[in-house]
Formats: sequence, C-alpha cells, structure tokens
Amino acid sequence: MQVIALPLKDETATIELGEDLALALKAGDCLALSGDLGAGKSTLARAFLRAMADDEALEVPSPTFTLVQSYDLRIPVSHFDLYRLADVSELDELGFDEALSDGICLVEWPENAMAALPKTRLTASFSHLGDGRQLTISGDASALARIERSLAI
Ligand code: ADP
Ligand code: MG
Repeated sequence: MQVIALPLKDETATIELGEDLALALKAGDCLALSGDLGAGKSTLARAFLRAMADDEALEVPSPTFTLVQSYDLRIPVSHFDLYRLADVSELDELGFDEALSDGICLVEWPENAMAALPKTRLTASFSHLGDGRQLTISGDASALARIERSLAI
C-alpha cells in the first residue's frame, strides 16, 4: 500500500493513532506532520511521545520557539517545529542528522525545510473533515508496512 488513509473523527482518534505510531516507528524514521494551524499535528506528536515514554503525564512543550525538543526515551525522539525556521540551513545547526541517526524525528511544518529532509520519510497530512480530520500517511514503503501492521488493517 502506498498511502494509508484514516478518518480521525475526534481528538481521541488522533491520540490513539499517535499511540499506534509509537509502536510502529523505529530509530531512523522521520515523520513529517503536515496540515494547517489547528489540524492536530501537536496532538499527534504529544500522544506519540507520551506512549513512547509510557507516561501519560509527560510534559510536551511546544517547540515553536526552540524549534526542537528532544526526549531521551526507549527510542530517542526529537520533536521539531519548523514554523519559525528562517533558512533551511538552520536544520543542520539544530542537529537534525544526529537526531535521526540514533532516533526518531517528528517534524511539524516540514514545508519550511522540504529540501533538507530525508527522502525516505513518512508524511502524515491532516485535513479538516466535518468536525473531525482526515489523515493520509504516505512515503517510505517499509515504514508504511510497519504502520499497517500496528494498525492491523
Ligand atoms: P496543530 O498542532 O496542527 O496546530 P493541535 O494538535 O494543536 O493542532 O490541535 C488543534 C485542535 O484540534 C485541538 O483542540 C485538538 O483537540 C483538536 N483535534 C485534534 N485531533 C482532532 C480530530 N481528529 N478531530 C477534531 N479535533 C481534533
Ligand atoms: Mg502545533
């Protein structure tokens, strides 16, 4: 399958998907989270991190101003928010390559650094659907297969 399409009818569905993704992704995976302001990107990232930490109360501050927040978990996870990235070259300075070499990178606003992101990545794109959201996950085939297995679809 080249694309996984999922309706996310409410916030709980987004959280559950984040938890499933935490079981499916592994070190070296880059998951770009694409969608408008308010689409659900941070909700998914927070659920992913809490599941990976096995801690429902894990503080997940928005990296809007710091651009990246790193977590030393079962698998190290770096949560990027590139909304305020001034130049693609800044991604280097933020330690993106190192973060990806030993862990997972979650990237909000990937549009601001497309050229610098790895080609073998996953993209989760949110769009509004009624009161809920529609999500499509596309990209690296082997990672998509892992996600399919963890979703049991
Ligand atoms: P973003 O990081 O994309 O700007 P957020 O994750 O902050 O968006 O989410 C914005 C709002 O959308 C939150 O109030 C959240 O509860 C809500 N939300 C998340 N997922 C869904 C969904 N599947 N359906 C409806 N609302 C959702
Ligand atoms: Mg956000």
